[in-house]
Amino acid sequence: MSLRFSHRSLSQQVLFGSGQAAEHLAAEVARLGAQRVMVIASPRERRLAERVCARIDVTVWHDGVAEHVPVHVAERGRAVAAERAADLLVSVGGGSTTGLAKAVALTTGLPIVAVPTTYAGSEATNVWGMTEDATKTTGVDDRVLPGTVIYDAELTLSLPVPLSVASGLNGLAHCVDSMWAPRADPINRALAAEGIRALATGLPRVITDPAGLPGREHALYGAYLAAVAFASAGSGLHHKICHVLGGTFDLPHAETHATVLPYVLAYNAPFAPGAAARIAQALGRPADPDEPRAAAEAAVAGLSELRARLGAPTALRDYGLAAEDIPDAVARVLRAAPPSNPRPVSEENLTALLTAAWSGATPSVDPDIPAAPLVPATEAR
Ligand code: NAD
Repeated sequence: MSLRFSHRSLSQQVLFGSGQAAEHLAAEVARLGAQRVMVIASPRERRLAERVCARIDVTVWHDGVAEHVPVHVAERGRAVAAERAADLLVSVGGGSTTGLAKAVALTTGLPIVAVPTTYAGSEATNVWGMTEDATKTTGVDDRVLPGTVIYDAELTLSLPVPLSVASGLNGLAHCVDSMWAPRADPINRALAAEGIRALATGLPRVITDPAGLPGREHALYGAYLAAVAFASAGSGLHHKICHVLGGTFDLPHAETHATVLPYVLAYNAPFAPGAAARIAQALGRPADPDEPRAAAEAAVAGLSELRARLGAPTALRDYGLAAEDIPDAVARVLRAAPPSNPRPVSEENLTALLTAAWSGATPSVDPDIPAAPLVPATEAR
């Protein structure tokens, strides 16, 4: 098959260095000539934000952050930016904080310097999200892409281990879903594979040495690659499922991604052997795409082993999904599932997938799938 693709790279300044966030931020504020900085950080993130902003003048601190950015929270942030004539937004925190900065930038056009403190990766995408009336709306707009991202692994040392694991697996989900998302191409697949390798290297070290920097640095680097791959490849089936579970049923973002991922991998992998082999290899398991079933099983086994080492979340029922919610969730996901998903999606198989994720059943490749299922010709290896 000849190699033909169209790929768009987003432009960002990325400054990466442990213990350097305050220095990097001061240099960026000076470079941008900003005079009136609005810092967005939740109350829990305030101490980190004060450290990061130690060398700049702050015009206004704004802490009205809420998960999934309710519309009224976005409007309040925009009003504060206007009242205080802010000319630069600095977000210090997780994806919810970055998300609020993006919502303000969407209507004001203000530039963002993002200083992430989790592995969610929102800082590296041009995707915004807001919720209203139990429905999450997302959109793509280059105005919300932070022009600068400052990574400092010291800022993640305070992230509790269970949240570090869930957030890191959220990053891993960006990588895995990028392999078969609607705009998957050889470049974003390469970024995703390196993201999996970095996260699978870093996260186990976060468990064994939560106060050490090497594991956190690998995880943060992997989280960035994961988000770049996701921004480029778009939302695949996994993200559509988690989007419904978070936006409609209010499940926590990182834990939901961490729980659903192995089920989507087991579902899609036999139908995407090139992706399965790359995922398996990035998780340290050699695999051959010409043996689709073996490649899929290697990918699922690699992820299961990593999740076991990390003590990853296992069941959606632990995070607030009721069994009665499954039919509604299935109906909503069916409306959003990408037509390009490597395996057809039906009410029956989505119900099976979500029921397994709800109960925490062991994720595995369906034994009824033939050893070499029909693979779409478009699946690049
Ligand atoms: P979060 O931002 O809600 O943070 C989770 C909790 O951890 C919060 O209480 C926060 O204050 C706390 N926290 C953050 N950093 C900490 C630290 N270093 N130490 C201690 N506590 C810390 O969760 P998240 O998983 O980072 O982000 C989830 C949100 O991001 C969701 O709304 C999701 O939709 C969005 N998101 C968007 C994109 C995108 O591309 N637009 C990508 C990923 C996630």
